[in-house]
Amino acid sequence: MTAARTVPNFAEIIIDPAKCTTPFDCKRCLRGCPQAVFMCFPVKVEKGKETDPREPSAYGIVPMFRDKCTGCRLCIDLCPVEAITISFPNA
Ligand code: SF4
Ligand code: SF4
Repeated sequence: MTAARTVPNFAEIIIDPAKCTTPFDCKRCLRGCPQAVFMCFPVKVEKGKETDPREPSAYGIVPMFRDKCTGCRLCIDLCPVEAITISFPNA
């Protein structure tokens, strides 16, 4: 007898970069997520220069720990520009 294979039901989290342009300056989803799913990184890096958090597209926000997402949708409610989409493809 073979054990049934369980497919992990991780959240698919999409952040629209055309809507979320200055994530370092906003960070509402990052701060509000009870599961600490998000991380924010500089995308534009220039030697000897500090990355401007208000420059569009200089930073990006990444759902680094999407396996921890419970689907509470708090981040979606907090986002001021409706940039976040979450689904559970294996539900
Ligand atoms: S749905 Fe909830 S747990 Fe998942 S990323 Fe958003 S705030 Fe975090
Ligand atoms: S709340 Fe929305 S706009 Fe703000 S950092 Fe998160 S995805 Fe970007």
